Parts: sequence; structure tokens; C-alpha cells
Amino acid sequence: MADKYDYYEILGVNKGASEDEIKSAYRKMAKKYHPDLYSTKPEAERKAAEEQFKKINHAYDVLSDSQKRAAYDQYGDENGPMGGGFGGGATGAQGFGDFDSFFGDFFNAFTGGGRRTTRQNGRIDGDDISATVTIDFMEAVKGVQKDIQISRQETCADCHGTGAKNGSAYKTCGRCGGSGRVTMRQNTIFGQQVVQTVCPDCRGNGRIITDTCKTCGGKGMNKHTRIIHANIPAGIDNGQMLSFANEGNCGRNGGAKGNFILVVNVKPHPLFKRKGYDIFFDVPISYTTATLGGEIEVPTLDGVAKYKISEGTQSGTVCRMSGKGVKRIKSESRGDIYFTVQVQTPTGLSKQQKEILSQFEQTLTPNQSPKQKKFSEYIRK
Ligand SMILES: [Zn+2]
Ligand SMILES: [Zn+2]
Repeated sequence: MADKYDYYEILGVNKGASEDEIKSAYRKMAKKYHPDLYSTKPEAERKAAEEQFKKINHAYDVLSDSQKRAAYDQYGDENGPMGGGFGGGATGAQGFGDFDSFFGDFFNAFTGGGRRTTRQNGRIDGDDISATVTIDFMEAVKGVQKDIQISRQETCADCHGTGAKNGSAYKTCGRCGGSGRVTMRQNTIFGQQVVQTVCPDCRGNGRIITDTCKTCGGKGMNKHTRIIHANIPAGIDNGQMLSFANEGNCGRNGGAKGNFILVVNVKPHPLFKRKGYDIFFDVPISYTTATLGGEIEVPTLDGVAKYKISEGTQSGTVCRMSGKGVKRIKSESRGDIYFTVQVQTPTGLSKQQKEILSQFEQTLTPNQSPKQKKFSEYIRK
């Protein structure tokens, strides 16, 4: 992971720095952090300088070697003092000792090979493919099966992926002797290098096709439309992904199949808001129910339920229905429902209603509205 530990940054040079620039930057940095200069310093400072000195040396070791540098530019360094593997999750990522496979990848990256991983003998893993499905809120809560149509590359059945007619109309590549790899001298931006790389004649197959398979035109694979029966589990949330192993594009020359990744979008619900496995919403209740208490009807994921409102419930009170939320994936337990009581102030009162309410108001004592009493006391101070 180059970003974790940047050799160029350690030496204070640009990515395009020349060999001379790197050498001079290294000398400067090595002088600055040389352990001899820190022998009398406090331990923490000495240790830090020692660490930095090690990093500088390692950075120089890589950047001063054109092969290592080219590989580092492409992949980062898994053997760096900070550890960490290669980025990108490439399945065929290999250690520094195996330079030829590196340069196989190096080539592919420049020729538009994408994330495909070239392995020994030109094996290339298939790409993952992805699709998006949009489901209703309740489908996400209860789980649902969806048929997803995908289009993917599959190994040609007529030539078994060889690209040669009947899978047999080919001969061994003369240039590489069937190994799929050759040693080449090439001019790169890093100077001339001798590298082992994918054979350009057979492109790593080790075979030269003498009669092309008509079905796939020699590609060894064909595009097919398939239906994936996706069981979307109860509890799935918006933006979550499901992976279907080996349902992606086929590999080549014996490479592994990619996976199919399904991204699930969940439509919002008109009433329910979901946070994790809990459900939130507002419930309007009458002024009288809030004052006297009473039973109300509350919507839940399992239909309408009764809920007892206690006497003297204030607007904004949050009520909890434990275990009535969304079922957790891979578990039988469920989240909770939280609803917020919204006390409705009646509007459009008749003259008579207003009179009755005024009379009632006059009978109230300050202790019956303690919050209001406290507030009045506060502002009079
Ligand atoms: Zn074919
Ligand atoms: Zn060849």
C-alpha cells in the first residue's frame, strides 16, 4: 500500500525524480538522520531517528533499483517496514521475489488489462460484475427473492476456452516454447531493462491457434445473458451489497471466475424511518388522550398494534416497542420501534367549545403544569 508508506515522500522527491536526484536526496536525508548524530539524545528522539533512518534506507533500496522502483510504482511495497499487503485485493498478488509475475501485471496494466490478474502461464482471473436492484422498504424488512438479469463472459463451450477450433487446432508457441513468457530488453522511462514478460506472440497462452473457433472468434469466451436468483435476506439495508461467488466473468487460461456483486437500494417508506434495525416515526394523538391517557393504534412492521398512552403524556414523548423493529441479518433478534407522540392542538373551535375550554383553564392550578410553572418563575427572576 503505497499510500501508507510513500518512498518518494520519505526521500522528499517527486515521483518522476531522476536517479541522480534520488541519490542526492538519499545522501541528504541519511546524513540528517544518521544514528551517530543521535547517540547523546533522549531515547524517544533517538528511536524516532533510527526508525526514520531505516525507512530512508529502505526507500532508497527500492527507488535506486529500476526494477524494484517500477514494481513499487505499480503496486506499492508489501515488504516495507510499515507492513501491509498490496492494495486492490488482487487475488494473484505475489511477493517481491517473483519479479516476472510482477511484470506480467505491469504490462497488462499499461495495455488496459484493468484489475485482471495475470498469473503464471498467462492465467487471468475473470472480472467481478455488478448490478443494482431496488426493493421496497417492506421487502427489505421481510426478505425477498429477486431474479436479476446479468450479462457475463463465459468460457466458450465449443473450444473449451482455447479459442482454437474444436479446442485442438493450435500448436505450441515457437517463441516461448509454450511457457507463455519470454525475456525481453525494453526501453522504459526508467531506462533499458531486461525483464521476463508475457510472450507477445501467444500473449501468455503458450499456444498459437492454427484454426480459429468460429463460435467465439478465437477469444475463448462468449457473452451470455443469465438470470441470478437472488435471495435477499430479511434485514438488508439501503446500500448494502450481496456477493455471489463465481457468478462473474469467466477467467482465461484456467484463471478463476469473478464474482457477481449485487448492490441493494431500498426505497424509503412514507412513514417509517430506519436507523440500523430500529424504526422511527411520529404518532399524532388528541389533546384529550394525552391528558386522560388511553389506548391508541400504532402502525408496526407486523400490522396495526394497540398501545396504551399513560395519563398526562406530553407532546414529544418517545415511546418504545421493544423487539418490534427490523429482524437482524443472520439472527432471530429484532430491533425496536420508537415513536414520538405529537399532541394535536384542536383548531376551528366553536364559540361554545372555546367557552368550555376557558372555564376549564380557570380551574387549573400551576402545579398541574409544572414545566410551565418553572419556566414562568425563571423568566420573572
Ligand atoms: Zn470458442
Ligand atoms: Zn509464446
